[in-house]
Amino acid sequence: MELADGRRLPTDLVLIGVGVTPRTELATLAGLPVSGGITVDSRLLTDDPYVSAIGDCAAFPQVRSGSLLRLESVQNAVGHAQLVAERLTGSPRAYAELPWFWSDQYATTLQIAGLDEGHDTEVVLGADDPDAFSVLLFRGEELRAVESVNRPADHLAARQLLQSGASLGPGDATAPGFTLKGHLARHRAGAAALPVG
Ligand SMILES: Cc1cc2nc3c(=O)[nH]c(=O)nc-3n(C[C@H](O)[C@H](O)[C@H](O)COP(=O)(O)OP(=O)(O)OC[C@H]3O[C@@H](n4cnc5c(N)ncnc54)[C@H](O)[C@@H]3O)c2cc1C
Repeated sequence: MELADGRRLPTDLVLIGVGVTPRTELATLAGLPVSGGITVDSRLLTDDPYVSAIGDCAAFPQVRSGSLLRLESVQNAVGHAQLVAERLTGSPRAYAELPWFWSDQYATTLQIAGLDEGHDTEVVLGADDPDAFSVLLFRGEELRAVESVNRPADHLAARQLLQSGASLGPGDATAPGFTLKGHLARHRAGAAALPVG
């Protein structure tokens, strides 16, 4: 492979990752704040109450930290669109969806629940099968994200666990017989058993 500066790199395979840049010129021209994307509040409204920004171009506040996040995923764009449609039809709410991602790459389905913004421990479920496994990413005792390859049941359980805020640490995940689905069921049974009031 020859680079623009003339350097030649011996290689068998070239993988090119092409990034994207949000088109924020129109927002800038309209005097709306832009910070890596068109800045919106938790209702996905810009500074102008008549202008919303959604999907790839929108920088919206994260639920936990409040820091602005711009995501490039179909789930995010669809979730944003639903929220704005609900607001326009009289049911406003804050955007608090757990980020998740899905991509089919030939025979491989990659699914990610949560955002990994730095982890210190990884636990692999199904480590004996290179074609179907999940990687649980922890920061301290907190589960931050689950990356699954061809393990859709893990992905679904992980989304519900992360969204529910259920407690799950590396010690739980390495216990014999651990499954995300089983942990979710125990969490739900525990929550249901809590006294009301
Ligand atoms: C190669 C590739 C692979 C991807 N794979 C996945 C995947 O596997 N899983 C996943 O979740 N996500 C994937 N994504 C990301 C996903 O496609 C985007 O996150 C999603 O399409 C964003 O939706 P959107 O509506 O915000 O923006 P877009 O789908 O980009 O739609 C924006 C539209 O606005 C139009 N537009 C822009 N400016 C103007 C203007 N001034 N006036 C009028 N129209 C305008 C554009 O032409 C475009 O049609 C992939 C993206 C790429 C590029």
